[in-house]
Amino acid sequence: MTDDITDDGVNLSYVFEKSPPNIGYKISDIAEFKFVNSYGGSQKKHCIDTVDIHLHCDNTACMGPRCFRTTSKQIILQKDDTVHIHVRYTCSNCQESIKYFSLAIDLLDNKSDIQIKKLGENPSFAPLTPANLFSLIGTDRDNFLNGRKCEIQGLGIGAFVYYRRVVENQRERILCKIKKVMKQSNIATDKIDIAINEIQFKKSIELTKDVLPESLHINGQNPLLLLHRALSIGVHEMSDEECLKNATSVRVVLIELVERLQQILKDNNELKQAMSHLIQLPVTQA
Ligand SMILES: [Zn+2]
Repeated sequence: MTDDITDDGVNLSYVFEKSPPNIGYKISDIAEFKFVNSYGGSQKKHCIDTVDIHLHCDNTACMGPRCFRTTSKQIILQKDDTVHIHVRYTCSNCQESIKYFSLAIDLLDNKSDIQIKKLGENPSFAPLTPANLFSLIGTDRDNFLNGRKCEIQGLGIGAFVYYRRVVENQRERILCKIKKVMKQSNIATDKIDIAINEIQFKKSIELTKDVLPESLHINGQNPLLLLHRALSIGVHEMSDEECLKNATSVRVVLIELVERLQQILKDNNELKQAMSHLIQLPVTQA
């Protein structure tokens, strides 16, 4: 296994939580050579530490996102061979919901990077779609659901094309929602108005480069530019697996953006109500 694969900028929890099966990711600087408890005592091995993950738990006691933990604290790797492993995760709240992952992992030549692919999971991969995403994308609900269906089945080109259609069709609605956040935060909206009125998708998104509020940035990046970058690559330039990888990133970033928009608008409304309540209180002399 050689190291000439590019780092995908994802971590281990992304592979477990967000990625559909059958996408290979390179993760850098994650494997260690250290003492681990193995058969016959403690031995030095190449390994990676597992992580706690967050998944939706369907158990009636939970019915929401919960932390899932595994008792497999380390995954031991082989120097010149692919390791195939099953990892069992249990919901840390109800202790009843269980999720199994099947993984294939290669240790790359530098002994600190890995190539990891989720081969399958049980229950099946079923990323949750927040209701407020549907209200944002309006008439493109069916296109989004078709994209999600393709993504779950590992049909990368289909997923990518459907998600691209959603973002391109709903650009104006997304920008209008961003304008609402800016207005509530008393940020000037003249530049976002220009972006909204721009017909060309690329130009419109580029116009948001310097005006998007910091609160809507994801890990310091403008999510609209990230979406545009992913969606501007032609389908014919990518393999089905690359399309699937990009489609997954588009879905994850789009959902994160929608949740941030919703949270900021909710916080602002609550703050507004609290302020108006306090303003109405009678002023008393101390
Ligand atoms: Zn649970």
